[in-house]
Amino acid sequence: MRAQEARLQGCRNCKLCESRHTIVFGSGNPQADLVVIGEGPGADEDAQGLPFVGRAGQLLTRMLESVKLTRDEVFITNTVLCRPPGNRNPEADELTACAPFLAEQLGVIQPKVILTLGSVATQAMLRTKEPIGKLRGRMHAYGNAVLIPTFHPAFLLRNPGQDYKRMAWEDLKLAKREYDQRRTR
Ligand code: URA
Repeated sequence: MRAQEARLQGCRNCKLCESRHTIVFGSGNPQADLVVIGEGPGADEDAQGLPFVGRAGQLLTRMLESVKLTRDEVFITNTVLCRPPGNRNPEADELTACAPFLAEQLGVIQPKVILTLGSVATQAMLRTKEPIGKLRGRMHAYGNAVLIPTFHPAFLLRNPGQDYKRMAWEDLKLAKREYDQRRTR
């Protein structure tokens, strides 16, 4: 994991390298049985070099804690490791350029459960264009793991309706149930 992080330094494989400040590699337990995948770093993450440290990150921490998971026991990463300017969605060429790094992280960690946050991460991982509202609420096969999609915490902050929160909590409970059943470490 550290070797991979070192190799990534100075990456110029896509145009996000022009505007990024830091490559946000991911953080948490490199032997985690559960990996959380977000969309891409925002301004706070780009400044600190750590994933999910801004407002959405604080909500993610609380979402994990609501099912008795800590950030230290899981691994948190993103579909692109550099900040898209102005927090726009990552573009197809950027997702393609970064996909091998994410695949390598997953290959090293070998998680049992993957929790994807929002449509960008979920669609990229499942290679589908289905909307998140149709993909969430159930498990998807992903190699030796199960992939469980839920809403992105930034979306939940923008749409504070109880229905979305309730659905996200159902997804987290599903992820925790699978984690408890499948975890080896
Ligand atoms: N949103 C994301 O998708 N990832 C982060 O790391 C932070 C905010």
